[in-house]
Amino acid sequence: MSTNNTLAIVVPCYNEQDAFPFSAKSLTDVLCSLIKSQKVSPKSYILFVDDGSKDNTWSLIEAEAKINPVVQGLKLSGNVGHQNALLAGLITANKTSDMTVSIDADLQDDVNAIEKMVDAYNSGADIVYGVRSDRSSDSAFKRVTAQGFYKVMSAMGVKSVYNHADFRLMSHRAVAALENYEERNLFLRGIVPLIGYKTEAVYYERAKRVAGESKYPLKKMLKFAFDGITSFSIKPISLITTLGIVIIALSLIAFIYTLVSYFTGNAEPGWSSLIISIWFLGGVQLASIGLVGQYVGKIYVESKRRPRFNIEKHEKGDKS
Ligand code: UDP
Ligand code: MG
Repeated sequence: MSTNNTLAIVVPCYNEQDAFPFSAKSLTDVLCSLIKSQKVSPKSYILFVDDGSKDNTWSLIEAEAKINPVVQGLKLSGNVGHQNALLAGLITANKTSDMTVSIDADLQDDVNAIEKMVDAYNSGADIVYGVRSDRSSDSAFKRVTAQGFYKVMSAMGVKSVYNHADFRLMSHRAVAALENYEERNLFLRGIVPLIGYKTEAVYYERAKRVAGESKYPLKKMLKFAFDGITSFSIKPISLITTLGIVIIALSLIAFIYTLVSYFTGNAEPGWSSLIISIWFLGGVQLASIGLVGQYVGKIYVESKRRPRFNIEKHEKGDKS
């Protein structure tokens, strides 16, 4: 067995005092059995990230870290949201681990899939996605909105893994590559597939929240979807340009129609010129806004300063 196998399980927690005791217990069990079977090193640990909770979450984490040798706690100075809290945990854990697994505190993701992820890592994968094979535990509403979310995302050209949330394993170098994506509008599910490297997926059934309430009500979900699209795609701008061109084309039809009406005497005075101007100018304006938008879109892509490539291997590269 290789020695580069220190695992850090990163768990973002926001107001999770009800779920925390359950997740601390099951994650500890899973980690200890992985250590016992020598799949991960005894230095492995669980890092609970408190995302500025307003309840007792942090004092529970602190107390647990004192008595539980595999538990560590990280307290953020305020609430920065799930994605940023997760990133804070990943970057912190990556300093002292060879792989990280991110998982929510509510145990909706199957902790037993962690072992399968570690197996995939040990056989050479850099990124292992946890993918839900079943959503029957979610409410019908959550299911429909979540499926719609993936459909819209892919129509807008955002590469993301279907039915995968933020339950995944990443190797040390994958997290290091992730750190180079310096964007502030963080949408990890969209960024991780851009990193490349060898990826695998493990399948699991999604359970109900063990305790507490979802922190993603509809309003937050819509914002998340909108952020996801606008952080990855300038397709909506192209749609405006296309719409403008379509309306200019329609204005030609309106032009012919009004001319026919004019010559057959069915037109009020002044009507023909008005209709033609409205359609034509409307189309020209939309197309122009779209054109300006294309430049804004370019600026936006440049301003992200995303890495242009990640290197996987350099054969004979370390020979001097
Ligand atoms: N979370 C967080 N900061 C927030 C909101 C949520 O760290 O501002 C954490 C939360 O504690 C949980 C995970 O993100 O561990 C996912 O949240 P939740 O389970 O409420 O989302 P859902 O599964 O309903 O989509
Ligand atoms: Mg949840």
